[in-house]
Amino acid sequence: MSHDATQHPIPDVTTNPFDDDKLREECAVFGIFGTEDAAAHTALGLHALQHRGQEASGIVTYDGEEFRAHRALGQVGEVFGRQQVMERLKGSAAIGHNRYSTTGDPMVRNTQPLFADFEFGGLAVSHNGNLTNAVHLRRELVHGGAIFQSTTDTEVIIHLLAQAKGGVTDRLTEALRRVEGAYSLVCLTRKKLIGVRDPLGVRPLVLGKLGGAYMLASETCAFDIIGAEKVRDVEAGEMIVIDDEGVHSTFPFPRLKTRFCIFEYVYFSRPDSVVEDKSVYEARTAIGRELAREKPIEADVIVPIPDSGVPSAIGYAEQSGVPFQYGIIRNHYVGRTFIEPTDEIRNLGVKLKHNANRQVVEGKRIVLVDDSIVRGTTSRKIVEMMRHAGATEVHMCIASPPTTYSCFYGVDTPERDKLLAAKYSLEEMRTLIGCDSLTFISMDGLYRAVGLAGRDAARPQYCDACFSGEYPIPLTDQERQPGKSAQLSLLREQAR
Ligand code: SF4
Repeated sequence: MSHDATQHPIPDVTTNPFDDDKLREECAVFGIFGTEDAAAHTALGLHALQHRGQEASGIVTYDGEEFRAHRALGQVGEVFGRQQVMERLKGSAAIGHNRYSTTGDPMVRNTQPLFADFEFGGLAVSHNGNLTNAVHLRRELVHGGAIFQSTTDTEVIIHLLAQAKGGVTDRLTEALRRVEGAYSLVCLTRKKLIGVRDPLGVRPLVLGKLGGAYMLASETCAFDIIGAEKVRDVEAGEMIVIDDEGVHSTFPFPRLKTRFCIFEYVYFSRPDSVVEDKSVYEARTAIGRELAREKPIEADVIVPIPDSGVPSAIGYAEQSGVPFQYGIIRNHYVGRTFIEPTDEIRNLGVKLKHNANRQVVEGKRIVLVDDSIVRGTTSRKIVEMMRHAGATEVHMCIASPPTTYSCFYGVDTPERDKLLAAKYSLEEMRTLIGCDSLTFISMDGLYRAVGLAGRDAARPQYCDACFSGEYPIPLTDQERQPGKSAQLSLLREQAR
């Protein structure tokens, strides 16, 4: 599909300094069982996972007598920075959650962990991912008399649990057999910490150990911060139960070929994490090397768009022999509280976050390396900035294939008609961004970089739906009411 680029210019949304034109990873989960001060460990784990969600944060603990909870909008430091808050969260078991809303409004009632009392006692749940039949199930549940407190898809699981029979793990199994979509869950009961990954393992979940305590987290960087060790990845379709007896594993769902999200390697996960037994940093540098092999460019310097483009740019420089240099400096202190007082200030746009390092780029032919292009808004500003700083040629290399489809598995993607690559040809995109050449890594190149022989060799090995449009899990709600925002608006409508 192609449109006339001159008729449909890129919307200039970079006047919003916080819009860095990235896909937003959904959420982070963390859980720990068997240590004093479980809440402090959880807060540190959530702090390390802040990149997966900055909108709200919450912790629920169990102290042997009662569950205690604190949830609020804001980043981990703001939410758990006060001593009184942490002192209240007593207990040797805890779970936590960082939220970036993919489903549901950014309000406190949607902040996780969610908690409910059941016949078997209390249960708190934190969810990373997105259910693709949540609206459908919610309608059924509401019809049957269920009263929802939030607009999140996760609450559907709570209601399904209430209807199911047996002990907590039987109920969880029965409930999860009815949901479709991506989920990595951690749950806390009076006696157990439970972790579950959906049958395709779309979102990550890892098991760790610190002394006698076990923990579950979205990424290994949450273990590093508290000096814990990774034990292993929770497998796709696996349920892990941690109690006083130790760790128990079952596979209550049909075993399927896994489809881990390939975008975790491209952008979402922290480069110092090891996901699915692969170092994210190494995967990203390998993507850079592949890019350089696929598109060698005569240039003087390789410049990353910081921070996410750095490992791929290092890989590109290694492979090409062209020096890597910081030609763009990122200001890390652009906070959400920045006030935009006048149009003039607002029009500074991307410069609030990035500045050209003139010494590096002046008079040079540069290759800019970035992880992805979503709407193209930041890319254009950065190319312009490089030219103003004296770059004689600006080539752009992207460490992922063109993002042409929305994600429905827990990543905040714009609707398809806002995705640059869904609307324009490669040449039109190049013109709109204003660079001398524009290259995306091929799908096969990306697969090779993450250690597989190419997408078609033994496909499918990953979820790559935002590049290919081949969705590995049914999009039940979308099929009934198409449109990226349909799910959210339906949930809102039902919540009224
Ligand atoms: Fe990841 Fe893209 Fe699949 Fe979403 S659609 S899970 S972002 S690969």
